[in-house]
Amino acid sequence: MSPVIGRMAPSPTGRMHVGNVYAALAAWLAARSVCGKLRLRIEDLDVERVRPDADRWIMDDCSWLGLDWDDDVVYQSERMDCYDRELRRLSEMNVEEGIGGSESQPQPLVYPCFCSRADIKAASAPNEGDGFRVYGGRCRRLAASERERRIARGDRHSLRIAVPEDAAGRQVELAFRDRIYGMRRFNLAKDVGDTVIRRSDGEYAYQFAVSVDDLSMGVNQIVRGRDLLPSTAIQRWIMQQLRRSHGDLEDRSQVEYAHLPLILDSHGRRLAKRHEDMDIGALRAHGVRPQAVIGLCAYWLGIIDAPRPCSPEELIGLFPSERLRDRHDDIRLDARAFRILGL
Ligand code: GLU
Repeated sequence: MSPVIGRMAPSPTGRMHVGNVYAALAAWLAARSVCGKLRLRIEDLDVERVRPDADRWIMDDCSWLGLDWDDDVVYQSERMDCYDRELRRLSEMNVEEGIGGSESQPQPLVYPCFCSRADIKAASAPNEGDGFRVYGGRCRRLAASERERRIARGDRHSLRIAVPEDAAGRQVELAFRDRIYGMRRFNLAKDVGDTVIRRSDGEYAYQFAVSVDDLSMGVNQIVRGRDLLPSTAIQRWIMQQLRRSHGDLEDRSQVEYAHLPLILDSHGRRLAKRHEDMDIGALRAHGVRPQAVIGLCAYWLGIIDAPRPCSPEELIGLFPSERLRDRHDDIRLDARAFRILGL
């Protein structure tokens, strides 16, 4: 068995809030409970959303909470050469024989998509409320000559990775076992669809960067919110293709997944970094102790029966709890949580 390498992968779009701490604590415990490594990767590709200094706040808050990490911090914004190289490899490949395209007309694995946002919105239905819009595949069906003509003309385009359908048009299922949610199966074509890997402004998309990073950093344990379950399906597909482009066909990586119920605000919306009353900066300013925050998150993770102050160390070995495996309800932040923190 290879040693466990987990990761915390925050987007530096603001100060951490209690929902981020809950996910970070789970990732930390999952790795530390098996003497694994935990890497910190700052996901700062979305330049419009990145806030200057948010990376330093995240590191400072993690240290204050007692959540440490190993090795150098990785910044996605510093990995462009790597993304360029991997994209070039994928762009030279076709969708595998028998699962899309045909011998006479191979389907490129990566293809330019000239559709505008409005076209895509009109032609697709959002999926499961998880922000996935399944792309109808219009540009996948363009003739090669038409693609070349439009690129030569300088038409704005994103790049999409094709997901498979077999030669008979049957769709291919991707399955993985999650430590909390159990066996999950996704029909790639129907549930996820051809996914943007480079945006039309030239920025690499989250799904592609994360897949390249997790693979090249040797990450084999992923703990994060359940909203990313369909992302796991597409990321596994992208990673398989990246491995194939390196001539490595066998999946030896055995990535272990644990997706967590979400923390919601009092209106039932996913807690966002804009929800400032529960951000760690505000809590620290109110004199809340790190042990109180960890205790509340440990309670949400089903590790302790009632919130009490505790340190991450004393919880090692307790994640994932039976309770979390049995009950997958999202958690709503209510007055009780504020009371527990002494607010
Ligand atoms: N950067 C993402 C976030 O902060 C997490 C991505 C991931 O865990 O793969 O929501």
